[in-house]
Amino acid sequence: FEPSKEHSNVDYNVWLIFTKVTNKSTLTFKFQNLISNLLNVSTVPLKFHIIVDEKSKTIAKYKLSEVVYSLNKSLVYTFYNVQDCSTKLSDIVNVMTPFFSSRPGTYFSDALFYISLGLYRIAPSSQKRGILLDCDLYFKKDIALLFDEFDRFKPTALYGLAPELTPVYRHILHMYKLKHNTTFGDYYCDNSITEGIHPHGFQGYNSGVVLIDFEKQRESKQYLQMISRESIKNMTEKYRFRGHLGDQDFYTLLGYEHPDLIQTLNCGFNRQLCTWWKDHGYSDIFKHYFQCNHSIVVLHGNCNTRIPKN
Ligand code: UDP
Ligand code: MN
Repeated sequence: FEPSKEHSNVDYNVWLIFTKVTNKSTLTFKFQNLISNLLNVSTVPLKFHIIVDEKSKTIAKYKLSEVVYSLNKSLVYTFYNVQDCSTKLSDIVNVMTPFFSSRPGTYFSDALFYISLGLYRIAPSSQKRGILLDCDLYFKKDIALLFDEFDRFKPTALYGLAPELTPVYRHILHMYKLKHNTTFGDYYCDNSITEGIHPHGFQGYNSGVVLIDFEKQRESKQYLQMISRESIKNMTEKYRFRGHLGDQDFYTLLGYEHPDLIQTLNCGFNRQLCTWWKDHGYSDIFKHYFQCNHSIVVLHGNCNTRIPKN
């Protein structure tokens, strides 16, 4: 006897960030498209949790009502105010910003880019797990497949993340790699069998799709150490790591130093499409980073790349 997913004791929580938008923002279209895409492909009852500012909330409400009307489906959602969220995260943001933001006070220094690190404090304590999604995604297959990945987590994993599909971390590790023999920053290659952590090369992580085990995270003392200033300082100094991509820089460092905390999802769960690095010094090896031979569940139109829908 298999209990059906509708009756089991787990929620299908989808978290989205929808802020700083206007009616004409492309983000508004991406948001509306993603919600209707998810309602169409999902075989499980999703609960949406949407982080908004006041103006974005008004726009979101209107777009959600349009989706409900046009698909004639029901939609369960809750809004969370981005200011309240930032307050709950301010310690984390203060620690991370000097290391992983392009310039403090600019776009990437916002609390927004670290929300996944403290979402366990924002989510109601009854919520055991959630998936944080970017708005620039398109699901080719059922999102239940993504939730199924929680069942494959090793016991120590707090996060599930798919690889970054560009050489950005090869670039960032340039100085470190000159002096150290490491597979970190290398592209993932099935043929090279070497010993150690990430023996097949390790491209780092992308944070467009983040699976989070809130329950384990809330109980983890190790996690609190990991996000301390001392830990970030040690890791960034060791790898001479100066990032600019927020939370995913932190996850990539965890992947080097504490791989037990992260479950690596295959690239089909976050098939990024941005080719910016191909034209910025890596035309020869870009294809090795970019290739993804797994079945595609999620397409990610990052750096504003148009998503081909077929
Ligand atoms: N986002 C937002 N307002 C903004 C920019 C970004 O709410 O002005 C959120 C939105 O959920 C978006 C995510 O932050 O999907 C990450 O940004 P984006 O997907 O554009 O970054 P990329 O994947 O291209 O690095
Ligand atoms: Mn994105």
